[in-house]
Amino acid sequence: MDPQRQRIEEDLRGIVSGEVLCDDASRALYATDASLFEVWPLAIVRPRTAEDVAATVRWAAEQRIPVHPRGAGSSLSGDSLGRGIVIDCGRFLRRIVQTGATTVRVQPGVVGAQLEEHLGRLGRTFGPDPSNARVTTLGGMIGRNASGSRFLRHGAVRGRIVAAQVVLADGSIVDLVAAAPTAPADRSAEGLNAGGSALACSHLAAGMSALLEQSRWIIAQAQPASRYSHGGYQLNDLKRDGRIDLPRLLCGSAGTLGIVTEATLATVPADNATAVALLLFDSLEKAAEAVLKLAPLGPSACDLFDKRHLTLARSSKVAFDVLIPAVADAGLLIEFTSATVREASDRLDQSLVLMQGAKGLCLDIRRAEDARDAAFFWELSREVVSTLHGVRGASRPVPFVEDIVVPPAALPDFLRRLQGVLKKSGATAMLFGHACHGQLHVRPYADPREPAERLRLERLAESLYAEVVAVGGTIGGEQGLGLSRTAFFEKFFPELAGVFVSVKRLFDPLGILNPGKITRATTQPSAASSFRSSLAAVPELRSEGAPEGSSEVRMGSLAPARLLPVLNWSESQLIDEVDACNGCGACRSQSSATRMCPRYRENPAEESSPRAKANLIAGFLSGDIEIQSLSSEAVRAIADTCFNCHQCRIECAAGVDIPAMVLELKAAQVAANSLGFTPWLLSRVDTLSAIGGACAPLANRAIASPRARWLMEKMLGIAQGRKLPPFTGNRLMRWASRRGLTRPSRRSGPRVLYFLDTYARRHDPMLAQAFVSVLERNGIGVFIDPRQVASGMPMVSEGDVNGARKLARTNVRVLAEAVRLGYRIVCTEPSAVTCITHDYPLFVDDDDMARVVAATCDASTFLWELHREGRLRLDFHPVPGRILYHAPCHVRAAGGARPAEHLLRLIPELSVEAADRGCSGMAGTFGLARDRYRASLRVGLGLVTAMRGAGIEAGATECSACRIQMEQGTTKPTVHPVKLLAKAYRSLEGFGGVAAQGLDSLLTASSGRLTTSE
Ligand SMILES: Cc1cc2nc3c(=O)[nH]c(=O)nc-3n(C[C@H](O)[C@H](O)[C@H](O)COP(=O)(O)OP(=O)(O)OC[C@H]3O[C@@H](n4cnc5c(N)ncnc54)[C@H](O)[C@@H]3O)c2cc1C
Repeated sequence: MDPQRQRIEEDLRGIVSGEVLCDDASRALYATDASLFEVWPLAIVRPRTAEDVAATVRWAAEQRIPVHPRGAGSSLSGDSLGRGIVIDCGRFLRRIVQTGATTVRVQPGVVGAQLEEHLGRLGRTFGPDPSNARVTTLGGMIGRNASGSRFLRHGAVRGRIVAAQVVLADGSIVDLVAAAPTAPADRSAEGLNAGGSALACSHLAAGMSALLEQSRWIIAQAQPASRYSHGGYQLNDLKRDGRIDLPRLLCGSAGTLGIVTEATLATVPADNATAVALLLFDSLEKAAEAVLKLAPLGPSACDLFDKRHLTLARSSKVAFDVLIPAVADAGLLIEFTSATVREASDRLDQSLVLMQGAKGLCLDIRRAEDARDAAFFWELSREVVSTLHGVRGASRPVPFVEDIVVPPAALPDFLRRLQGVLKKSGATAMLFGHACHGQLHVRPYADPREPAERLRLERLAESLYAEVVAVGGTIGGEQGLGLSRTAFFEKFFPELAGVFVSVKRLFDPLGILNPGKITRATTQPSAASSFRSSLAAVPELRSEGAPEGSSEVRMGSLAPARLLPVLNWSESQLIDEVDACNGCGACRSQSSATRMCPRYRENPAEESSPRAKANLIAGFLSGDIEIQSLSSEAVRAIADTCFNCHQCRIECAAGVDIPAMVLELKAAQVAANSLGFTPWLLSRVDTLSAIGGACAPLANRAIASPRARWLMEKMLGIAQGRKLPPFTGNRLMRWASRRGLTRPSRRSGPRVLYFLDTYARRHDPMLAQAFVSVLERNGIGVFIDPRQVASGMPMVSEGDVNGARKLARTNVRVLAEAVRLGYRIVCTEPSAVTCITHDYPLFVDDDDMARVVAATCDASTFLWELHREGRLRLDFHPVPGRILYHAPCHVRAAGGARPAEHLLRLIPELSVEAADRGCSGMAGTFGLARDRYRASLRVGLGLVTAMRGAGIEAGATECSACRIQMEQGTTKPTVHPVKLLAKAYRSLEGFGGVAAQGLDSLLTASSGRLTTSE
């Protein structure tokens, strides 16, 4: 760390109670947001209190270092990026402070969706609904004056803000309210402190009042009331009842006037009823014409989609393919709201009659018949916009031009002009907009890595903005001016930009509050010059002749000069994967509607988010972070926040393979430092279990003895509190051999190679027996090849690629042979499936790899497929009981369906409740380690609590680690669904095992020994 940052860190740590981060790894995580820009901050402060923010600002003002408030960092225009100190309000300031009858007081880090959930329980709503409400923070929404599809109904944040506690540029904490202007008072810090907030408000109100008066004509011209939203500071409606509404001014000010530390927001009754329809058109022009007809009817939402958007939707979901005809070139999603369902429905019908009456206007109309339909139609606005972020490839729709507001009446004219500009520039673009209030998002296809493309984007923006101005519009209405548009705004609205400079000077004479946004900083780079640089560095790296592709990791060898991929991808492929993460921050979601990143949920800090890993790798690839930092504590801690659950990979709109990147990162760390003792031990859990099994009575006594457990924690790092599964003696393979299962099956018809995992083999052989019995019951030949070895997943999780590769090579040889003989590879352990299908191809080169991957699945998927083909026997006996089923992350990663739940529902008298409580938090061996035990319990708390629910007799899940967690907090057992199927078939009895009385017998034997006599 350079001396300047060292000093900053020491100084700031002395004055704030929150966190201060100055290391390169942490800076890399805050150098980007959802925009194309990359600006490295000097330091990051994560305040715990308003006083922390104030102390930081005071110190920064003395040092003339800028500060940049940040929420979720999801701005599309680089609004929260800067070279000074980033103040991350999203980490600790997350409290809903007070809820009144018509207002709510929040800290800035409260997430939009979290607030709506809270208010929803009281029948109220805040209202403004940006499409990324699951991640955006209230501080960011105020900074951005966020709004969304329902702008017509709820407006933007500025319409709902009542008061705000802010830290001003001199570090004073002030309660900002609408204030009457008085004569300017003493603005020194002492003066303000003496008079307190009221004095500060009056002073600012007086300054603003004078400014508004001086600039009356400029404002009236450049911010007409006929335009719904405005770029930059919105000044046209601040003066009301002789007061200046200062909290309103804050909205959309991008943290350039003050940093919000608390805000009071007005709430309104939640909408009772809505009615939704999707209108389809054969041209954008006709859609625009329809907008003009619909607007007077007062819809609550009216979102416009272009052809590309509709095509993307059709390709993302079959249901959209059925819903939207291929000939549709444009669509409008309209919604009407009312007090009753009947009224909302009538209003919608009225609008549809109007549309049908206009001959040749609509191509088709789809009316949502119920709430499910409506939610599905809304996905077009909510989900498909995120999918835009997921479009991969060098050239893709980029958020640079993005944010345009035109008077709604000018929409048809503007759309023609837009097409003209695109045609002239030889560009294509995607268009999405909130049409009734003239808010449009235009995303041209471009490759921002190419310097020439950057220039082209700037020229395109300039031509387009000229047309916007020509129709009386503005830029930066919803997503701000930020680094993308501040310079353009100054060019197209020089007089108003001059007024903005005066506003900025009034609040922030030193220019330390997020400079360069809304008003230009003194040394403002050209808008495109600070595009993400890591990506531009690729050719340079390649021209050095870097070895591409997989290389063996050499433990303890000299560290290479930069991060070289050890997995089966070239440097440029790795960079493409990193590049596919556009920083939208959807992986910061804590919504119960997703299972996105359990680690972030447990510890909502930027480094826990999946995008942090992509940013970190980008830093290493570009050389911005020195390779020596790989061994640093900060990098280790960041890599450690991923426990390989794969939920980010499947829920990310762009499908960015964060687990593979983390494996790359951990492998590089292992190469530089070798594994620590506990990770090494846990990554060899199969060997440990084999040893335990060899001396089962002794080992079982040890894991049951508090003293021995204490010793194990101290010496081996295995958490004393963790309930460990007993050892059953390594006799499964002998049993399999005696039953002839260790030889290829001689049965004709479908055949399965059962890939054994450690748990079934060493701890729960009855599961293996149950699976074999179910397969045989259905006439399937079973082969347990004795040459197979453990999957190696624990090694993958710890980054020991060399160790995992050795196991993988053996397994791939064995499995490929079976696949050639027509076997399916089936595992009862879902993580083994992930390991074979996702991880092996990353580090094993084998011609048969693709075939092995295609043939591998988990037991429930295999049996459900059998059922769907009508080949699963359904002669189940009743199993009376009530169980809680938990879908493990690795089953979701394999395809998202819940085959086990469906199978269990086939069993008579078995009542199945789906848990839907997110990840269990066990993540293989993660939850066994002393240092991770508590984190594991915190992640799994929801599931463990659900297990304790009254009436639940037992749990069921496919994953052995989840089973350990589900049994941790209760006395109720948890079993693999296959055991319940075997029980329902009574097929285990044939193995000399469990009798058929009820659920109990099977459950008490849940982790039981072999059921046959040996
Ligand atoms: C997929 C996607 C969809 C989006 N959809 C919409 C949409 O529908 N509508 C919309 O309006 N925007 C949308 N956005 C843009 C953006 O995410 C939102 O504007 C959002 O409100 C920003 O919130 P944030 O918490 O991420 O703030 P950040 O991006 O971190 O910050 C935004 C601005 O607020 C300032 N700020 C943050 N905290 C504070 C604070 N405590 N005090 C003062 N200033 C502060 C920052 O300095 C910055 O200028 C979208 C973005 C994405 C990636």
